[in-house]
Amino acid sequence: MVIIMRPEATLENIVEVTRVVEAAGLQAKIMEGAQQKIIGVIGDKTKLVSVAIDALPGVENSVAISKSYKLASREFHPQNTVIDVDGVKIGGDEPAIMAGPCAVESREQLFAAADIVKAGGAQFLRGGAYKPRTSPYSFQGLEVEGLKILAEARERTGLKIITEVTTVEGIAPVAEYSDILQIGARNMQNFGLLKEVGKCGKPVMLKRGLAATIDEWLNAAEYIMNDNPNVILCERGIRTYETYTRNTLDLSAVAAVKHLSHLPIIVDPSHGTGKWRMIKPMAFAAIAAGADGLMMEVHPNPAKALSDGSQSLTQEHYLDLMNGVKKIAKFMKDENLNPIVID
Ligand code: PEP
Ligand code: MN
Repeated sequence: MVIIMRPEATLENIVEVTRVVEAAGLQAKIMEGAQQKIIGVIGDKTKLVSVAIDALPGVENSVAISKSYKLASREFHPQNTVIDVDGVKIGGDEPAIMAGPCAVESREQLFAAADIVKAGGAQFLRGGAYKPRTSPYSFQGLEVEGLKILAEARERTGLKIITEVTTVEGIAPVAEYSDILQIGARNMQNFGLLKEVGKCGKPVMLKRGLAATIDEWLNAAEYIMNDNPNVILCERGIRTYETYTRNTLDLSAVAAVKHLSHLPIIVDPSHGTGKWRMIKPMAFAAIAAGADGLMMEVHPNPAKALSDGSQSLTQEHYLDLMNGVKKIAKFMKDENLNPIVID
């Protein structure tokens, strides 16, 4: 349920509504609406049946939230969420670009990739130190050594770091070295991991599960949001009957998520297609569709990559792509072209 306060409601009115909600054993979260304050109520709303919320001073009305997820829903939080990662905004005016190799393979490889990523104008360096590989015999990542190399690359370039965490034990080391923690597609419904990662104090990027509906994805975000409002969604393609591409990149998820949720959404056309040639057109389309940014794999030598070389951009292709992305984003901003229809 959300309780919408009148524009002229006083601080005392808000405090009193919060007190009544909490006295009934529910949680109250105060948020800024466009014109007025909104109080989100979390928990079993039947506990409030005996309380005439709408009659409390300063209350305009109360509305039930129809979705099973609340904190992630736009009804609960009408304004877009903008996440500030040490001065870099995700969900703001500029697209947030996350680029780098699939995996951290060595210091030389990551530093070379970081220089390319930086030259193209991305703000975030990605690279897996813990790799959730389909085969147990494939390269599993450099683990803590990989995290340290990522942190060194941040020192060298000023790029922020995003890297995946795959286990509850991994949360503390990843949170120590990384600016954003990534939950991969395979762990989207690992609810124990989601609950714990919410407590890490850093923004979390939640990739869509391989076979997850948008509703399941937003419910997964809700687990993290119980402790942490700074959640970024990432569309990375879903399994369909198509085999030409590795996954089917669901760009319609951008429009759906923007309607249903206030959370920023990033598109990953590397995992979404599995083919480097398809990254540029899908990246352009994602920005035109209103995505808040991109995640892409870039490798100094994709032919030698230990994982996902076929969906990794070379320096030349990445720089060319970024040139186009910047032009599209600038054009859309200058022309005030907002593709998102919320109501
Ligand atoms: C990744 O981004 O490194 C990754 C493994 O992606 P996904 O979880 O989307 O498969
Ligand atoms: Mn990869």
